[in-house]
Amino acid sequence: MKDKKVAHLIEAETKRQRVGLELIPSENYVSADVLDALGSVFTNKYSEGYPGKRYYGGQDNTDPLEQLAIDRAKQLFGSDHANVQPHSGAPANIAVYQAWLEPGDTVMAMKLDHGGHLTHGHPITSSAKLYNFVRYGIKDLETGEIDYEQMREVALKEKPKIILAGFSGYPRNLDYAKFAEIGKEVGAMLMADMAHIAGLIAGKALPNPLDFGFHVITSTTHKTLRGPRGGLILSNGKVTNPLKAPEKTLENLPTLIDREVFPGFQGGPHMHTIAAKGVAFNEALEPDFQVYAKQIIANASRLANELMKRGFKLVTNGTDNHLIQIDMTQSFKIDGREAQEILDTIGLTANCNAIPNDKLPPFRPSGLRLGTPAITTRGLKEDDMEKVAEWMKQAIKNRKDEKILNTLSIEVKEFASRFPLPSDN
Ligand SMILES: *Cc1c(COP(=O)(O)O)cnc(C)c1O
Repeated sequence: MKDKKVAHLIEAETKRQRVGLELIPSENYVSADVLDALGSVFTNKYSEGYPGKRYYGGQDNTDPLEQLAIDRAKQLFGSDHANVQPHSGAPANIAVYQAWLEPGDTVMAMKLDHGGHLTHGHPITSSAKLYNFVRYGIKDLETGEIDYEQMREVALKEKPKIILAGFSGYPRNLDYAKFAEIGKEVGAMLMADMAHIAGLIAGKALPNPLDFGFHVITSTTHKTLRGPRGGLILSNGKVTNPLKAPEKTLENLPTLIDREVFPGFQGGPHMHTIAAKGVAFNEALEPDFQVYAKQIIANASRLANELMKRGFKLVTNGTDNHLIQIDMTQSFKIDGREAQEILDTIGLTANCNAIPNDKLPPFRPSGLRLGTPAITTRGLKEDDMEKVAEWMKQAIKNRKDEKILNTLSIEVKEFASRFPLPSDN
């Protein structure tokens, strides 16, 4: 690369990723093939529209490329339709809201501090200005069980047009059948934002909301799904010509969504990213990916146990997925941000996060959020979780002792260097 400054930063970032252990649950390491596709000449091409219905010439290769990505996504999740154009998870959610709602309509989503995502109507988002968000949440913080009775009561009263299942900070499984039952009773469209767990669903380690009557799944492609940064929308229904406005019915959701992604909300698709999504979907269709998905959960479950043994107080006392939330204020009398910064000094990357009913502010919350998708990609297994938990405990306990922190940092570096990045091979 001629640009020495950027080349230097890429090299430094590669090194950072090699010598550290990535515990942020929304991050992962992609394969060399995904990186190749992402860095390909498809970035040069404009292809507004959809396969066979483009506005510019020269679509000989983009049409079959996008169709391939669509077909693979449909196969992976068993949906009638896939839109692979959303630039990321947030635009995917906005496109679905706009396809189905009118301004002022109501959406029912998880309480944000119980695990809901910013795009589920955080007051600072544009969605919250357009739509009315009502909430469901956890009934029992010790088990994490959702209060489905309260959910039904609020749904009956507020008549939401969308009931949204999904989270970025909830370590337990949702009961999709209950969501579907309530959705049916109040006539809501059922949307699942699977940004965090799409890879676990694709790898058949967790249930698929579409099997329970959900109408739409939105997702990112870069978290557990291990593809490029991007978004994805899956839907069931009839696919008709996106150039003609269809009636607003559940059956027409695929077409309503296509029209909203382009031209409703986005311009030209990023074809290089779509190429990389295609590669990632194909990797996720391999039997190996199911082994990977199950290992993510096995590792998370073991890590949760090892942490609890060492005095960490986990929100809901464990995990069913890839994600762990620790209440640091109850564990070691520090806040989540302080914990994040201490772990950073020894090469363990995690992120601070609000916990249910957090008494501290969002920039300095009580929680620390961890996950196993990235370290599982590196090749770590259950027994390695003991080491990770012990390093965490030692670093936090000895946070004022630079000598100990330095020793821990060398240990982590030596250990991590034994597990190459997939793109190193
Ligand atoms: C990560 C995430 C998103 C947003 O994805 P971006 O790619 O960051 O825009 C949306 N919803 C949920 C549940 C997420 O976890």
